[in-house]
Amino acid sequence: MSSVIENRPVAATADEAAKPKGTDSEIGASDQAETTDGFHLVIDALKLNDLHTIFGLVGIPITDLARLAQAEGMRFIGFRHEQHAGNAAAIAGYMTQKPGICMTVSAPGFLNGLTALANATTNCFPMILISGSSEREIVDLQQGDYEEMDQLNAARPYAKAAYRVLHAEDIGVGIARAIRAAVSGRPGGVYLDLPAKLLAQTMDAAKGRKSLIKVVDPVPRQLPAPDAVDRALELLKGARRPLILLGKGAAYAQADAEIRALVEKTGIPYLPMSMAKGLLPDTHPQSASACRSFVLAESDVVVLIGARLNWLLAHGKGKTWGAPKQFVQIDISPTEIDSNVAIAAPLIGDIGSCVDALLERIDAGFAKPAAEWTGAIVERKDKNLAKMAAMLALDPSPMNFHSALRAIRDVLKTRPDINVVNEGANTLDFARSIIDMYQPRKRFDSGTWGIMGIGMGYAIGAAVVSGLPVVAIEGDSAFGFSGMELETICRYQLPVCTIVFNNNGVYRGTDKNLSGGTDVAPTVFVKNARYDKMIEAFGGVGYNATTPAELTKALTEAIASGKPTVINAVIDEAAGTESGRLTNLNPQSAAKKH
Ligand code: ADP
Repeated sequence: MSSVIENRPVAATADEAAKPKGTDSEIGASDQAETTDGFHLVIDALKLNDLHTIFGLVGIPITDLARLAQAEGMRFIGFRHEQHAGNAAAIAGYMTQKPGICMTVSAPGFLNGLTALANATTNCFPMILISGSSEREIVDLQQGDYEEMDQLNAARPYAKAAYRVLHAEDIGVGIARAIRAAVSGRPGGVYLDLPAKLLAQTMDAAKGRKSLIKVVDPVPRQLPAPDAVDRALELLKGARRPLILLGKGAAYAQADAEIRALVEKTGIPYLPMSMAKGLLPDTHPQSASACRSFVLAESDVVVLIGARLNWLLAHGKGKTWGAPKQFVQIDISPTEIDSNVAIAAPLIGDIGSCVDALLERIDAGFAKPAAEWTGAIVERKDKNLAKMAAMLALDPSPMNFHSALRAIRDVLKTRPDINVVNEGANTLDFARSIIDMYQPRKRFDSGTWGIMGIGMGYAIGAAVVSGLPVVAIEGDSAFGFSGMELETICRYQLPVCTIVFNNNGVYRGTDKNLSGGTDVAPTVFVKNARYDKMIEAFGGVGYNATTPAELTKALTEAIASGKPTVINAVIDEAAGTESGRLTNLNPQSAAKKH
């Protein structure tokens, strides 16, 4: 049970802030009685719901809330920029199925956090962004308050739900609604607006205690309809070249054993989307990752499990998908169905229940895919793997993406429990295919938006939640968005090793200024920068690695030390292509195609 408030003294500043200022009817009512206030009610409501960590950045009006949360036994991880606090909360939500909590100050702090909230919603990660806000009366009359902003309305389009609490007695309801909205059905980001005045409101402690809600069954199971299960099975039975496609929704669902059983019982080859890597080990014989294009083009029935047919899957049509095909789609969100192409057999429900239902009815009459299909896959895979092995065996000087990633791959193979964060253009594309994953929910990357800047936020969130080491494989450009959080990593002594793939620029470092002027080209950074020195400023350990052997040694040492580390991995500045594998999305390339 939570320790709802006695009339206890807290830090002097918090006490000050907690004093009722206005005309609230509560004033004077509790001179003698035990009272509580908005600050404590927020903390107790979170704790009551087993939410014990806040990722945030202090300032008016939430500094005292952060102090009190810490005093009351919660963990407050303070960041240098709200976006990264929000990203940490979002990845914590993805890893745990509980909403990650991010706390920010009003207007500018809120807006910084909003990017993370929108990213969480886009990726279907459950998080709650709690922001302090200024006085409603002044905001609504646009009278120019300190950090004035109509935050609730600003958040709405980017959140799954957005709520404001105006009265202390509604804090319990507000937090319960935020939790339910974040984790039930399709998970997403929720905004909770807490005006400064609310935090200072007082009320009778017993009434306050009663007003809190412990959410019962926040992630209710959703069973699929039996006829939908039959329809899906019928389609699958008629398939000649079936394929299972696992998305990060499947990883999120924590139905690991059921999914593995489905794959193995049916014998159907499968493809993991990037964050679903490790749901089954990438070395699994049924993995078709090494011949992705082939299976996407040639399959005739595809079972989508927690994966959307968005841009990452070429919207389910066109050359990528080749032969005509039919889809089974398992998803918790009914409106996801038919979003891009017709879905012949939608299966709506939570992934665990849907996969269970399929497993129950897969009987002896269910034939495994023909050898013609599985054999063709093995043949392609072997050919592609041999090609990749030849590329990885090269040892160019300076290093290229392949030789550096080979070194990292071999170290990570020895520690399958390690969390991997990955962002960049080329660094993301190459690492995704070279670094094998062996366990579920260990790979965190740019995700649905292809966003840059998640690196240190995700790394901190993953380290805090799991207590295990994190290796963040970062392009030098991507790293720049969150680099200041190295101080946060050092402050909390988190076992995060950040490897910066340094090729002197965005994509690469060789571009020229087309005007011939003295400014460098828009894609070029300072040459030969030493990112490893950055962490030394905060007491962490830096390594400079110019060969695969140096990289192996540095990473092995870094992981063993459990200390905050940065490895500056020096890559050939000519290595890398424009936008990695997304060159075709640049307007000029797109125009050339038409
Ligand atoms: P990827 O990018 O890996 O393809 P997406 O983020 O596009 O994955 O898709 C995830 C999908 O999983 C979303 O459509 C979401 O509604 C769905 N989803 C998330 N959690 C569950 C769950 N527990 N059960 C069923 N579907 C889920």
